[in-house]
Amino acid sequence: MPVVVVIDINGVLGDVRKKKVPDRSVDAMLPSGQYFYLNPRARSFLERLEGYPLVLWTSRLKKNARPIEQLPQIRDTGFITMLHGEDCIRRGWHPIKQVWRLREKLPAEFRDSTILFVDDSPEYIETDQDSRVLCCESYSAQEGNDSNLEQIVSQINGRKDVVRL
Ligand SMILES: [Mg+2]
Repeated sequence: MPVVVVIDINGVLGDVRKKKVPDRSVDAMLPSGQYFYLNPRARSFLERLEGYPLVLWTSRLKKNARPIEQLPQIRDTGFITMLHGEDCIRRGWHPIKQVWRLREKLPAEFRDSTILFVDDSPEYIETDQDSRVLCCESYSAQEGNDSNLEQIVSQINGRKDVVRL
């Protein structure tokens, strides 16, 4: 049974900001008026996960995610589905990602798979017994850190229950 890798966009693959970051070119403008900066390591990270069924998930509304989704570095990964803010539930101010909402949207052959979330905010994810969360440091376009994505790839590849397609 293949493992589905679910990757958070904001804080992992990039950084959504209300204000422009000095000396950084903007990768996408969102309809909300916010700026998206791609993590410079995002492409190599995604390339190293080639062969895994990939899902992207953001708490942004679909319309705001679209310019991000259309960036070649994201679009060309061949991800199987993308979930948005509309697929989250709200708890106070916080959008919560629920694994059962994800399973409903997966192609039938993946619905019983182990799900591995890669997210910088694991506290906002509701998992089930067949899902795990790998937490990574938040990527910040301001600070220029590019998170610990290398370590995440090693963790995914090191799991005995993870099988590439
Ligand atoms: Mg995040």
